[in-house]
Amino acid sequence: MVALKHYSWLVVLSVLAIWSSTKIAFWPESIQDILVFLPYISVVLGMFIALWLNRIQPVLILLSLGCFNFILLYFSSSGLGLTEGTIFSVLSVLLPLNILLWILLPEKGVSNKRLNALVVLVFLVQAALLYYFLEGVPEEWLMLLSMPVVNDSNVVLLTFSAGIMFLLALFFIVLKMKQSSFKNLYHAVFVVLILMLVGVSQGLDVNTLAWFSMFSAMILTLSMVFEAHHIAYTDELTGILGRRALMEHFLGLGKKYVVAMIDIDHFKRFNDDYGHDVGDEVLRRVAWVLNDVKGGSAFRYGGEEFTIVFANKTTSEVMDELEYLRRKVESGVIEFRTGSKSIKTNVTVSMGVAQSDKDCNTVQDVLKLADKGLYEAKQAGRNQIIVREYALSSSKINHYKSSQSGE
Ligand code: GH3
Ligand code: MG
Ligand code: MG
Repeated sequence: MVALKHYSWLVVLSVLAIWSSTKIAFWPESIQDILVFLPYISVVLGMFIALWLNRIQPVLILLSLGCFNFILLYFSSSGLGLTEGTIFSVLSVLLPLNILLWILLPEKGVSNKRLNALVVLVFLVQAALLYYFLEGVPEEWLMLLSMPVVNDSNVVLLTFSAGIMFLLALFFIVLKMKQSSFKNLYHAVFVVLILMLVGVSQGLDVNTLAWFSMFSAMILTLSMVFEAHHIAYTDELTGILGRRALMEHFLGLGKKYVVAMIDIDHFKRFNDDYGHDVGDEVLRRVAWVLNDVKGGSAFRYGGEEFTIVFANKTTSEVMDELEYLRRKVESGVIEFRTGSKSIKTNVTVSMGVAQSDKDCNTVQDVLKLADKGLYEAKQAGRNQIIVREYALSSSKINHYKSSQSGE
């Protein structure tokens, strides 16, 4: 869900950026005048969020985007005797190079002294390099740097050097995506590289480049927000939704719903026999089986307990699905080695199920009722489902169905 949301925003924003960039020349002058300042707003906002989240990589990528715009603007408005084209050629190589460097840098937070010293050094080296170009660079170097990919084109003004550096950065970002479990930022950087490549390919136009930079900074910021949301709502061990997401899910429920509380049987014994790591792996597998539930949403409630919520359903409508899941957990073979021994085993789950009705109409009541069903399922021998129902006229609890294990 979160990944899908993230992708769709990336696509929408990048299409919007490219489409709108073709219209910039037709915008009123008053708007064109402020365009060059827009990247700084989104860069500063993004950097603030990245610092807050203790992420050095996005801080540095955003800083590089800010510097790229600032230096371009500075030189295009100062008559320093240097052709703007030279600075542009250098910067369009340095931008992807910087993005590449910051992506390859290990993410160690914003307060790692050694890493920060290295970053300052890299920026200083680049400043020295720019100064060297200002002082006068050998003619052949300039020729090499500004050699175009397409000769005599008014449309594609990309230089070979920039093109190669962008391609290299894109290649490494794809590698990083494959290796990392948190991919949101890398997806965003991929899109940013494409956008800036499109921008740079149109030649030196500070407004267009500022427009693309603003969108790039927005995309990076959004990816951090999505990642923070993902971390907050997803259970780290199993990768399915966690307790916070469950509580939020309850807020959006209507009057009619079913809650199933699910608990792995004798899990403590399993941990004691085979070790905590195998236990963790089993938790993951059970979570994935439950997460495949049709018509409902699964959450890790805590420890080895899970909750499935079915909106707009009654207990009788969900029993087949729950029974299917119970059997699927039971029949899943867990195979692993301890020392020289190869072990094949399985786990089972017990479930308690309850639905909302007019006597049991708060989430707490339904959860409590499902929990009682779970307790009874354990008492009755485990690996089974018990549905609890509130008697209509009193608080007496009706136990109306017990499905025994599937042998
Ligand atoms: P029952 O059939 O009555 O549910 O027995 P049980 O042993 O499953 O129940 P109990 O609540 O006594 O033990 C739950 C165990 O779950 C305790 C703990 O070792 C294990 N557990 C909880 N969270 C984790 C986890 O994140 N990883 C692992 N490996 N084990 C966990
Ligand atoms: Mg338990
Ligand atoms: Mg248990």
